[in-house]
Amino acid sequence: MTISTDSMAEITDIGKSPGIQSSRLMISNPENMTDVTNMSIQVMGVLQSTLELEKLIELFDDEMSAIVPHDYICYENKDENIKYELGKSARHSSNYRLVLFGKSLGELTLARNSKFVDVEIQKMESLISALIYPLRNALLYKQAVEKAYVDPLTGLSNRAAFDKSIEQEIEFATRHNHPLALMMADLDKFKDINDNYSHIVGDAVLKSFADCTAECLRRSDTIFRYGGEEFSVLLRNTNTAGALLLAERIRKNVEEMLFDYNNIKLNISVSIGLTELVEGDDVQEFVGRADELLYKAKKNGRNCVVSS
Ligand code: GH3
Ligand code: MG
Ligand code: MG
Repeated sequence: MTISTDSMAEITDIGKSPGIQSSRLMISNPENMTDVTNMSIQVMGVLQSTLELEKLIELFDDEMSAIVPHDYICYENKDENIKYELGKSARHSSNYRLVLFGKSLGELTLARNSKFVDVEIQKMESLISALIYPLRNALLYKQAVEKAYVDPLTGLSNRAAFDKSIEQEIEFATRHNHPLALMMADLDKFKDINDNYSHIVGDAVLKSFADCTAECLRRSDTIFRYGGEEFSVLLRNTNTAGALLLAERIRKNVEEMLFDYNNIKLNISVSIGLTELVEGDDVQEFVGRADELLYKAKKNGRNCVVSS
């Protein structure tokens, strides 16, 4: 089925930037004006009940469905790499670029198999203008939540993200009877680097290690900065044998990495403890076992991998 765009408009906050049409100013029939305004105030109240972006689009879709029936809605924000679609795309569509204070908030598309008539387009635009502020708030909230899960030095997911992910991964692996492997990696003699070359160089080593290790991983593996110079890697659908190959590759790549910071050239190494989820494991047991194996790797002389 081909999709034709019947209309395309820009919806901005009411009365801002001259030259950009305000949705309310588009309403041509004054008798309907109060109804439409009341309707959009009501909808805004509903939309303000959530900060979750996905939930917001669902709520908006529900509200819009009651007023302008449609088969498909899509919210897309390319800057933020977001695309939510509900329903099945259809022949006729209306597309809106959403703008607030000159900043793009993405695009909204509604579609159905019959053409939208003028009065519906007016209502649609009024409701979309009620979406603008709740949408801006939801986007800010999403950014804040994402930031809270990122380690600023390395750009990796942080300990809070690990605590959240490991619960989910254990549940997923148990439910689907898939293997799940966990690596705990700790840089060797890292304190000496700080002591001999400063914390700035130490920080640069952490960043280089993070980049070097992340390059070894597959899309389904996630690396976290667990804390200090310790990192954890969760390997979905991977047993000990598979994880061992990857751990060895990481260890070797780190050993061979050419670290050079303002002509300070250093060799670094990493010790890794590696284990696989076993039946009945909870987070503490799983992580505790990987930690013990890491401790063994340190005792074995460092720069090695020990698995269960
Ligand atoms: P081992 O081989 O036994 O792991 O020895 P180590 O020196 O790596 O371990 P130790 O626990 O003695 O020292 C870890 C050091 O990591 C101490 C701490 O100051 C440093 N560290 C932790 N977080 C950071 C950070 O964000 N930046 C820098 N530069 N250093 C950090
Ligand atoms: Mg260490
Ligand atoms: Mg340590």
